[in-house]
Amino acid sequence: MRSIKHIHGDKAPHWVGDGFYVKTLFNHLDNDPYFNHRHTDPFLLLDYGQPTNFASNPNFETQPHGVGQHPHKGFETVTIAYSGEISHADSAGGYDVIQQGDVQWMTAGRGIMHEEFHSPAFGQSGGDFSMVQLWVNLPSAHKLTDPKYQTLKRHDLPIVNLTDSENGRAIGKAAIIAGEWQSTMGAASTFTPINMWDIELNSAGSTTLQVPNSHNVLLLVQEGTLLINATPVSAGHLVQFAAPTDTDSDINFTNAQAVAQASDSIELTYTKSSDDEHAPTPVKLLLLSGEPIGEPVAGYGPFVMNTQAELKQTFRDYQTGNFGK
Ligand code: MN
Repeated sequence: MRSIKHIHGDKAPHWVGDGFYVKTLFNHLDNDPYFNHRHTDPFLLLDYGQPTNFASNPNFETQPHGVGQHPHKGFETVTIAYSGEISHADSAGGYDVIQQGDVQWMTAGRGIMHEEFHSPAFGQSGGDFSMVQLWVNLPSAHKLTDPKYQTLKRHDLPIVNLTDSENGRAIGKAAIIAGEWQSTMGAASTFTPINMWDIELNSAGSTTLQVPNSHNVLLLVQEGTLLINATPVSAGHLVQFAAPTDTDSDINFTNAQAVAQASDSIELTYTKSSDDEHAPTPVKLLLLSGEPIGEPVAGYGPFVMNTQAELKQTFRDYQTGNFGK
C-alpha cells in the first residue's frame, strides 16, 4: 500500500483574471522542504476552482469573464471543466469550448499565446462554475515541441467501473483522462508516463486503485468525504502520498519491465452518512500520478524551462517579438 505522507488544503483562494476563483494546491515555486516540486514532478502546478456561483454577465459578448491573451512555454496546461463552460483560443489555431466533464490538453511547447474565458453560453446564463487547471512539465527532449491542442470530450474518455473489493458490485466509475487503467488506455497523448483519472464513488463500499510504484502520487478530493487508506479526508483537500519506492533511474531493461509492472495500492472506502441514508453525497476525486522527470526546473510566471539562461532568453524573445519561433 502507498502510505499517505500529508493531507494539504485550506489555502486561500485567489482570482485568475476575473473568471477563475482558485486555490493553488501546489506550485513548483514552493520551497516547503516536505512538499515541493520534487514531490509533485512531473506536475508543476494545480489550481482548483471549487464550485463558485457566477451571476449572468450582461457583457458576455464583449467582456467575457476569464483571462485574455497570454503566453506559455515549456510545459502543458490541462483544464478540466466540472461545471460551467470554458472557451479557449490559441495562436496555433486551437479553439474549442469545453463543457461539464470535458478536458482540454494544451501543449505550449516552444511557445503559444492563448486566452481562456467563460463560454458565451455560460456567460449569458451564469450558474455554478468549477474547474481544475494543471501544469504538466515537459522533459528537456520535448520542451520545444510544436504547440498542440487536444479537446477530450466526455464521450471520448474511457470509463471503467470501480468495484467493491468484497462483493464485486460497481460502487463508482473512473474516466481515464490519461494513462492506463489495467488494460484501458487513457484518451490524452502525453510526453511522459502520467495517470489522470476523474473518479466518482456513488455507492457505499471499498475499492482499490493501483498506481505504479515509480510514480509520484496525489489525490484531490473535490466533493464528499471518504476514507483513503483508512484515513478520513474531506472535500477541498489534496492527499500527498509517500515518495515512490522505486527511484532507481539507472535501471537495465529487465528491471525496467519489472518496475513498469510493480504497483502500489490505494484503498478508497466510502460510507453513507447515517443521517442521509438514501441520498448520500457522491465522492468526486482526481487522481494524479506520474513518473518524475527529475530535471532542473527554471520557471517564472508563464514560462518553465530547465535553466535560468533559457528562461532569460525566453523573456528576451517575448520582448523582441521572437516568442515561439
Ligand atoms: Mn493560460
